[in-house]
Amino acid sequence: MIVLKTTGELALMREAGAISAGALKVAGEAVEPGVSTWEIDRIAHEYILRHGATPTFLGYGGFPATACISVNDEVIHGIPSKKRVLREGDIVSIDLGATIHGYVGDNAATFAVGDISAEAKRLIDTTRESLYEGIARAVAGGRLGDIGHAVQSYCETRGYGVVREYTGHGVGTEMHEEPSVPNYGTPGRGVRLLPGMVIAIEPMINEGTHAIRNMPDGWTVKTRDGKLSAHFEHTVAITADGPKILTRL
Ligand code: MG
Repeated sequence: MIVLKTTGELALMREAGAISAGALKVAGEAVEPGVSTWEIDRIAHEYILRHGATPTFLGYGGFPATACISVNDEVIHGIPSKKRVLREGDIVSIDLGATIHGYVGDNAATFAVGDISAEAKRLIDTTRESLYEGIARAVAGGRLGDIGHAVQSYCETRGYGVVREYTGHGVGTEMHEEPSVPNYGTPGRGVRLLPGMVIAIEPMINEGTHAIRNMPDGWTVKTRDGKLSAHFEHTVAITADGPKILTRL
């Protein structure tokens, strides 16, 4: 069942979204060569607590941290670790959520560690741009397939692989609500988009093929070919006035 949110609920979700966005911002500002992914996680964790919210991911399905931090060929769900120290030229995806007043904000971004290659920068830029292509289709009266198709066509025409096994999702009192929001699709197909729907749109885009593999830690997802992957995400409300990004400061 897809839960439509009232205007009052959207205001609460905007609060959760702002804290989530702030935590992602400070986490991203901490990214530099020599920093461990554990330290970045701690900074995000403290930010969320300081703002009266709780880290949505911590304990979710047993996940042991506030943020999923995925480096280079890691697509998503990387576990922060003191042993994972960022190096010049890496790219790092940070995904985190904050819950306040019972509502969730969920967002992600990929950051450069120092100077990165032109190829890595192009992957990051394309992934970010594809998110906004998808958001532009999050309009009442449209269909879910419009969003997925926009992301997919933007990335595939640039030679990238679009991850299939993981998708965006509805967001509300739960981090993962219906519907699933794939980063691929057919225009005009799928669930009708209605005012009050809130969805996380989150392209996971690979430099090479879309194929992934799951690591033995039970969480980390990597590209199968070992090439880079990038990830951007916003929580977005579909309203009569068009798409509203909730994960903003
Ligand atoms: Mg998400």
